[in-house]
Amino acid sequence: PPVLAIIGRPNVGKSTLVNRIIRARQAVVEDVPGVTRDRVSYEAEWNGKDFTIVDTGGWEQDAKGIHKRVAEQAEIAVDEADVVAFVVDGLVGATAVDEAVVKMLRRKRKPVVLLANKVETEAHMAEVYPLWNLGLGEPYPISALHGNGTGDVLDAVVKLLPETAQHGGMIPIGGPRRVALIGRPNVGKSSLLNKLAGSERVVVDDVAGTTRDPVDEYIELGGETWRFVDTAGVRRRQHMAQGSEYYAMLRTQRALDKAEVAVALLAVDEPTSEQDVRILQMAVDSGRALVIAYNKWDLLDEERRYYLEREINRDLGHVSWAPRVNVSARTGWHKDKLAPALDTALENWSQRIPTGRLNAFLGELVAAHPHPVRGGKQPRILFATQPSSRPPKFVLFTTGFLDPGYRRFIMRRLRETFDFTGTPIDISMRVRE
Ligand code: GDP
Repeated sequence: PPVLAIIGRPNVGKSTLVNRIIRARQAVVEDVPGVTRDRVSYEAEWNGKDFTIVDTGGWEQDAKGIHKRVAEQAEIAVDEADVVAFVVDGLVGATAVDEAVVKMLRRKRKPVVLLANKVETEAHMAEVYPLWNLGLGEPYPISALHGNGTGDVLDAVVKLLPETAQHGGMIPIGGPRRVALIGRPNVGKSSLLNKLAGSERVVVDDVAGTTRDPVDEYIELGGETWRFVDTAGVRRRQHMAQGSEYYAMLRTQRALDKAEVAVALLAVDEPTSEQDVRILQMAVDSGRALVIAYNKWDLLDEERRYYLEREINRDLGHVSWAPRVNVSARTGWHKDKLAPALDTALENWSQRIPTGRLNAFLGELVAAHPHPVRGGKQPRILFATQPSSRPPKFVLFTTGFLDPGYRRFIMRRLRETFDFTGTPIDISMRVRE
């Protein structure tokens, strides 16, 4: 979805505004998966339009606790946004710092709504009118704390959002299959992309039935054209260094939204980091097919190999269903292994188990391993079906809630019986009393 960035000096009320917006009745909110500690991005909806809200309030201090220059922080946020809400303190008016931000905003030519916050009485309006002088159009007086005016602001914002296809979570179909190449900075994403593209980079115009999208790249692998989505973000390295980890996460989420399958890239030269784990989790939560690739294999020596195996078992146990390829972006070693892994993952991701087979499988399973009796009761599974794929989703109709342990057991057996390599699967229950 398009991105709304909320910028402004510290203490003008950005976070309060974000809270207000996401608590507004129409706004449906969920955290972006993977961003656990610093909640800085939210999915919201207003008048039927989905958008992502970026709260820049949370990261005004860098790792060393130093306040970065506000304008510099704001600039990064603005570059990533489709629409900008610029918040000033309505009781103070525009300060020198605000004016610096305005200069930057003029250069960026992004749509801006100007908000004067903390305006709660008629008297407060005195500081609002002079804000017209900033040249950003009409200032919206609001009280983020009490909610006055925020509905009007959202109406204005929604009008400025680009008319993009609303993909938020919906998986696009048609054309070359879409791959998101994800991973923390320096795992070698752009190196791998270069190696894969090599001389075989496909000219966009040659690909039949596709709409040209300059942020995507078309690459031929295993005799087939693949669409690597949002590679502009992968290649923009300079920018990365300035931005916080948060932007890496935001980009990862956007790429996943557009993709059918993710290649999560890790590198053997460093231990699995928290960020690696978070990115993997985002891929899993996205419901896309998944391939894990270990890069920089050329750097692996015997000792490291021993520890790596243990690390993989420990850190990646929960995604052991994803096919793993070891590659070297530097030498090109094993680059031909990627396409078959992608094929497998996508095939299983689209898989549908016929209802008859599914129920036969469950019948045998339950006969051999009945659900344990709990408090004199034993829930029975009446019927199972797979209503959808991409990824496969199963529904079990039962006479009571199944133990989580038993559910995991069914999940495990499903994976052993049918081939779900490379795809997450989901089981839900409908209890019939
Ligand atoms: P990105 O931030 O994920 O796009 O990572 P880059 O592609 O920019 O790579 C980061 C660093 O790792 C660069 O110095 C690359 O030269 C290096 N690198 C990437 N792939 C490999 C590899 O397969 N082997 C080795 N030895 N170095 C690599």
